[in-house]
Amino acid sequence: MKKIQMVDLKSQYAQIKDVVNLSIQEVIETTAFINGPKVHEFQKNLEQYLNVKHVIPCANGTDALQIAMMGLGLKPGDEVITADFTFAATVEVIALLQLTPVLVDVNEDDFNINIEAIKKAITPKTKAIVPVHLFGQCANMEAIMEIAKAHNLYVIEDNAQAIGANYTYKNGKKVKAGTIGHVGATSFFPSKNLGCYGDGGAIFTNDDNLAHTLRGIVNHGMYERYHHDVVGVNSRLDSIQAAVLNVKLPYLNDYNKARQNAAKKYNRAFKDIDAIVTPKVTYSCGEICDTCDCHVFHQYTLQLKGVDRDALVKHLNEKSIPCGVYYPIPLHNQKAYTDSRYNETDFPVTNQLVKEVISLPMHTELDDEQIEYITSTILNFIYG
Ligand SMILES: *Cc1c(COP(=O)(O)O)cnc(C)c1O
Repeated sequence: MKKIQMVDLKSQYAQIKDVVNLSIQEVIETTAFINGPKVHEFQKNLEQYLNVKHVIPCANGTDALQIAMMGLGLKPGDEVITADFTFAATVEVIALLQLTPVLVDVNEDDFNINIEAIKKAITPKTKAIVPVHLFGQCANMEAIMEIAKAHNLYVIEDNAQAIGANYTYKNGKKVKAGTIGHVGATSFFPSKNLGCYGDGGAIFTNDDNLAHTLRGIVNHGMYERYHHDVVGVNSRLDSIQAAVLNVKLPYLNDYNKARQNAAKKYNRAFKDIDAIVTPKVTYSCGEICDTCDCHVFHQYTLQLKGVDRDALVKHLNEKSIPCGVYYPIPLHNQKAYTDSRYNETDFPVTNQLVKEVISLPMHTELDDEQIEYITSTILNFIYG
């Protein structure tokens, strides 16, 4: 059996090696390292794939979130509501811009931001909501957009984990994750569903004016050469990374399908096991099926019920099975983000999830033998 990896980038590269190498070589030969034609080409390709008017490539996903918030003109002291159960980057940029992060609890079924908790957290100072499409499936965007409209709030989608996922409206209409709110941000970190070979990110919007503002901000606030109209940053997608992404984008649907297939096999093995809750696909077709792409499984995350997680992690590691705990500490308990406005009773679900979740190997190259070994090792540990 091939050695099991949390993310197997090497085997994936092996299949596209010649094309990727050629594409990178082209950048080097032309020396168009910064803002070269590959970046523009990728921008256009991604706009088409997402069916969004504007893609603004940038240096990484954290920058994408920050630039989105700068572009919306959020001001120090403005309150921004986001999920307590996410990667720190989401809340980090809010704090960095001297906005006030307001963390709220998530749902037990899909790990995404809880709608009632958002409603309860709104104050006259609230200016934006940042839903995170955690682990590969969209938050309840229809409800979030309704709240935003009623309270005149911006919605910034953190789409770092869900690129290529569909969001299905109640009426059946499907759109790509990250293109529903006023602005979406994503990451091309190597292990993400569409990963480059270094850092990369992008911002999406259908708003022409906002797109114009954002294009200036990523480039030192310049709209005309050496005229700096606003304070910007230097956040560019490297041409070499764009060269990799251009090759990989046409495979994104297949990559996501491979993840869904692996998830389906995991689900089957853990079906009707009381100690294990498998990930639920919600707000869309209601199940993992061949015809929908509503969950793209950036992570495959289980909730363990009455199982000693630390012992299981140790056991898996001894059996050469990597695994992860995303995320072990709620953001409201992180030193940098504590706030006297929070009570522990505000976060019952997050407080529970951090103790119960475990993420299994998930990538595009998992084979049946590996999945069978992983699932039987887990079941043997629990019932063995
Ligand atoms: C990866 C990630 C980011 C940050 O992306 P980088 O490219 O690493 O800066 C932000 N939010 C979430 C939810 C992520 O998973």
